[in-house]
Amino acid sequence: MGDFRNKCVFVAGHRGMVGSSLVRQLSEKGYRHIVTATREELDLTDQAAVRAFFQRQRIDHVYLAAAKVGGILANNTYPADFITDNLRIELNIIQAAHESDVERLLFLGSSCIYPKHAPQPMREEDLLTGTLEPTNEPYAIAKIAGIKLCESYNRQHDRDFRSVMPTNLFGPGDNFHPDNSHVIPALMRRFHEAIEAGAKEMVVWGSGTPQREFLHVDDMAEASIFVMEMSREAYRSSTLPMCSHINVGTGKDCTIRELAETMARVTGYRGRLVFDTTKPDGTPRKLLDVSRLNALGWSACIPLETGLRSTYAWYRKNKHNSE
Ligand code: GDP
Repeated sequence: MGDFRNKCVFVAGHRGMVGSSLVRQLSEKGYRHIVTATREELDLTDQAAVRAFFQRQRIDHVYLAAAKVGGILANNTYPADFITDNLRIELNIIQAAHESDVERLLFLGSSCIYPKHAPQPMREEDLLTGTLEPTNEPYAIAKIAGIKLCESYNRQHDRDFRSVMPTNLFGPGDNFHPDNSHVIPALMRRFHEAIEAGAKEMVVWGSGTPQREFLHVDDMAEASIFVMEMSREAYRSSTLPMCSHINVGTGKDCTIRELAETMARVTGYRGRLVFDTTKPDGTPRKLLDVSRLNALGWSACIPLETGLRSTYAWYRKNKHNSE
């Protein structure tokens, strides 16, 4: 494996949960030239600004970890924002990377790209074999477009643009908004507030039966660097026939009820759980087949409960500025 520590690496979305973990890990690994830009310095939805930025910097590797993200309710409420912003960000960065001869790019997608009723666990080749989950279809379509952009630049221009599809992520730096966040930060906050208020009941959305897989963000960042650093041949041969994308997950899932029970243990909540079935369940099950990445030599190592404990510690320390 080559020494990439002298490469100039741009982490797009470095203030986000994955981007900030990527920057931490790249610095720990000894990368010397990590480029970042705040939203005020660079609006990623502005094509001219992104192009000018790439022309100014001499970027070798791009981690495309910038996206507009949110939970089931946010996706349902702001579908136009989700599809527009994400398409713009991806197109601007991928096109600019091509125009300025970036050596490698890694696009970070999401497991919601797979059909709602895809066989479980979902394999890379299940992409575009069925209808998507309607609650986040616009976001998913944008993420599928990102994969196809990378794939198309590889095919037409012999680029080395790669894609990783993480399962549901959680960890420090997550969005803890009461309505618009994903299930782990939403429940963590609600449990915490229930304990503080001495509440005897805690509401969990949906029936509690949907199954989800959860990956700690530090595992995700480690997997991303692993995929970025692997040889082009290894990436290509593991993503045949289209050099498309690789799944990243733990290979294990649990029900939302089990998640809520684990969260109760982690936070110390002792009251009752109430399931609000007027709220949507979303996809019945979402588990990734991670055998390709495992065969390449990477697997997740942070157990769910351990990850939840450290995330809860982070939340308690940072809750005043994590909303
Ligand atoms: P999804 O994986 O794209 O469906 O995203 P979410 O993380 O938003 O939701 C996962 C599952 O958790 C769904 O079945 C939700 O109904 C359920 N859930 C339970 N309580 C909550 C909550 O407070 N917030 C969210 N976002 N989901 C919840």
